[in-house]
Amino acid sequence: MLPLAILENCQTKLGETILATRPISGGDINEAYQLSTASSQYFLKINTAPFAKELFVAEAAGLHAIATQGILRTPTVIGHDSTEYGSFLLLEFIESGYRPDGFWECFGAAMANLHRKTAPSFGFENDNFIGVLPQPNGLHGTWPDFYIAERLLPQLSIAEQGKKLQPTDFQNFEQLFKKLPELCPNEPPAFVHGDFWSGNFLCDANGSPVLIDPAVSFSHREMDLAMSRLFGGFDRLFYQAYETEWPLAPGFEGRLPVYQLYYLLVHVNLFGGGYVQLVRDALRQFV
Ligand code: ADP
Repeated sequence: MLPLAILENCQTKLGETILATRPISGGDINEAYQLSTASSQYFLKINTAPFAKELFVAEAAGLHAIATQGILRTPTVIGHDSTEYGSFLLLEFIESGYRPDGFWECFGAAMANLHRKTAPSFGFENDNFIGVLPQPNGLHGTWPDFYIAERLLPQLSIAEQGKKLQPTDFQNFEQLFKKLPELCPNEPPAFVHGDFWSGNFLCDANGSPVLIDPAVSFSHREMDLAMSRLFGGFDRLFYQAYETEWPLAPGFEGRLPVYQLYYLLVHVNLFGGGYVQLVRDALRQFV
């Protein structure tokens, strides 16, 4: 049920009467609704978790950061707030369209150009979330330092608290840490979406890709590509166009699991089960 207090708060932010609401399924974290006014459509996410306010503040900041790069569309953020009935994020509603010929090529080239956006350090100006788990973004001068301190160690710490992994797993990660400088190419910090799986982009009514649910940072660009490959859903034309725009350093296939380990650890911490074995399979290739 959409709480009346949230609806009224949205009306105030929009300065218009909400004429209709429709629940939207498909998200794994939040309740979602389409809101209709006389002039437009809006997308509303509601979450009652204690951390929901920070979650939506971070999501809004991530969407804003993507929009600021001027490469790919994201829903415009109308506003966010906390009420006694939960926190909410109010966005522009993206009307879905069909993927036209050339969709994947445009998208692949655009992601390469998004990744070209750089910063003096790895990290980001604010921490954010990966799913519902905190994702710190402290600043580091090198990719291995950033990946270890801000990505792998925080997830390993959550896994340790939840008793999800064995002592040998932690020892194997220690060994991987030492090998990171030789495994991953030394590239400038790249602006990444950060949670780049096929559920986190839409195709709008003009046939253009739209990024949603970001977990942005200046990171290694291969993180986004590795995440996109974890569950699939991206056409090979996407990758061809990406590489035409900005070729990857040789050997990407071999080091793909290094980057996927972060997302696999996140899945261990969120869902457990079979993901522990996938973490071990990935680690075994390097230690
Ligand atoms: P969650 O944060 O819970 O994972 P999502 O952001 O993935 O939720 O949204 C749930 C569903 O709503 C998705 O399937 C997506 O297709 C759709 N969606 C997300 N954002 C918008 C938007 N701005 N406009 C229209 N549909 C959207």
